[in-house]
Amino acid sequence: MALNRRIAYVDLSAGSVEVRDVPLELRRKYLGGRGMDAYLLYNHVEPGTDPLGPDNALVLSAGLLSGTPAPAGARCQISAKSPLTGLLGSANMGGFFGPELRYAGFDHIVIQGRAEKPVYLWVHNGSVEIRDADHLWGGDAVQTQTRLREELGDPDVKVACIGVAGENQVRFACVRTGIKNAAGRTGMGAVMGSKNLKAVAVRGTLPIRLADPEGALGYLEELVDYIQSSKYAEIMGKWGTLFIFDVTNSTGLIRTRNFQSNQMPHSEDLECEAMDRYTMGMAACFGCTMHCRHKYVLPEGRFRGQYGEGPEYTSQGAFGTEVGAASMLGVLEANQLVNLHGLDTLEVGSMIGWAMELHEKGLLPAELVGDLDLRWGNLDAVIRLIDDIAHRRGLGDVLAEGPKGAIERLGPETAYYNIHVKGMSNLHSDERPTPSLALNIATSTRGADHLRSRPAIDLYHLPPKVLERIYGKPGLSDDYRVYEGKPWMVVWQERLYALVDALGVCKFQSVFLSPNMPKAEEYARVLRLVTGLEFTPEELMEIGERVTTLERLFNLREGATRADDDLPERYFTEPTPEGLPAVRGKCIDRDRFEAMLDEYYDLHGWDREGRPTPETLARLGLDAEPTRLV
Ligand code: SF4
Repeated sequence: MALNRRIAYVDLSAGSVEVRDVPLELRRKYLGGRGMDAYLLYNHVEPGTDPLGPDNALVLSAGLLSGTPAPAGARCQISAKSPLTGLLGSANMGGFFGPELRYAGFDHIVIQGRAEKPVYLWVHNGSVEIRDADHLWGGDAVQTQTRLREELGDPDVKVACIGVAGENQVRFACVRTGIKNAAGRTGMGAVMGSKNLKAVAVRGTLPIRLADPEGALGYLEELVDYIQSSKYAEIMGKWGTLFIFDVTNSTGLIRTRNFQSNQMPHSEDLECEAMDRYTMGMAACFGCTMHCRHKYVLPEGRFRGQYGEGPEYTSQGAFGTEVGAASMLGVLEANQLVNLHGLDTLEVGSMIGWAMELHEKGLLPAELVGDLDLRWGNLDAVIRLIDDIAHRRGLGDVLAEGPKGAIERLGPETAYYNIHVKGMSNLHSDERPTPSLALNIATSTRGADHLRSRPAIDLYHLPPKVLERIYGKPGLSDDYRVYEGKPWMVVWQERLYALVDALGVCKFQSVFLSPNMPKAEEYARVLRLVTGLEFTPEELMEIGERVTTLERLFNLREGATRADDDLPERYFTEPTPEGLPAVRGKCIDRDRFEAMLDEYYDLHGWDREGRPTPETLARLGLDAEPTRLV
């Protein structure tokens, strides 16, 4: 059964493991993945907990459709209180780890305490063991996986682990699995490092029985055909997310040299076609027919001969426009190092871009810069800084603290130049001309974030009739520059994304980058055929709302207020200097932004401070939380 996977509580201080069942009531309210993570975190992390202390809980959760024939049921969620933001920590990764966790008999692992010395978890067909990892400490994120497969004598073992950045508790260290998959954001790798937990290795052979095998296979074949018939699937299968660069840069929607421009000229060597020189074909995560990641061997340079996968659009920005460099080889090299050390690509690029601008403006102390040449476009400095961040050396040690901690160390005059929300850096996108996307990054539950509520299709000028069919509301404008109607689009996407994260399916196979992808209607049917759980599409969207609201409650409990749902000051004060006439000269209007925020709160049933009203909590069944049902 897809519903009989269990939850393991691991106490690393006590060296104990306890296994429990997941009550069906919780499944119906939260499904799995990000939904159950929100519940478990709210129930097992006390307010005010030190994110890097033993009382923080690290929660790994496979989605409820992970490991089943649902399209791209590959995803796994990792959550904890974030050492980067002090609020919700939450990151999602693809690959094969989530499905394998389910084959090993578990949907969730809640890890608390701190081991006295390095350990790893061995999760295998219903059992969880805590094992010594002294010999793995200091290993990079790829080596560690290889060594564990050798040690466990099974090439099919899947591993989620940290590199040296996690060991050194860099506040944006990530958890990695496979060659390129990462639970990248909010510093989950630092939490693992703080617990002396190097890795979680999983292997399982327990079958997941489908509720209606014949019906499921029939419908899923139809659904995969529908996904594959989209032009977008074809583009993703050829270029991966690299194609987005060509669109955003030519329009003028890309953050360049930190925040000094919104377009990068002479950037042919960053465009998706530049990857033709390196790619050997495409790879995919579990159950995915879209296969969006390039496979390559670096032909020259620092990592000559090393195999890699990716890179994503995030790396084109992080090691391209953000730092003023236009070299695909440079992107691949930086990407390789970030992957080996186990760092969040996006946070690294943003922090280095910020340091470069501070240096340009004379705001970095000379003794911290030393002999680093921080001029724009210097990829040698970028590579050295990545290494210094991971090992916490010099300026790298300051940047390793993330936006809030680094500003504290460098002084308040540096704050204006850092592009973060709630302490998490933004993607290298420039949302000044796009109010919907600006609202999205201001309100996401984990900080500036393009993956929690972004109505990316707002950029496509879709006819109002099409928008009405997708968003279920008439009168939505096809103009991405207007403010009216956008809060609803953000709220709708927020619910859909929370839903797919709870199901454990890939967001690229939902209405994210294409309007022609599955929504709650399709996933309601998949869920019934695979698990036997019956939901209407509206009920599924309400689960998305419940998950987001519980995440909101977590942040409020940690002291977040309306003031945290804001944009960096530069969005309001510096008009975009470049781009198409439609986007040039734009900044966000403060009054209209506040009006959007009011409407966004109203649509949720929150008060003007962003707190859910008692009626909203009762409607969503959250009024008694924490309930500690498991
Ligand atoms: S679309 Fe890409 S990220 Fe998503 S499951 Fe497929 S290969 Fe993985």
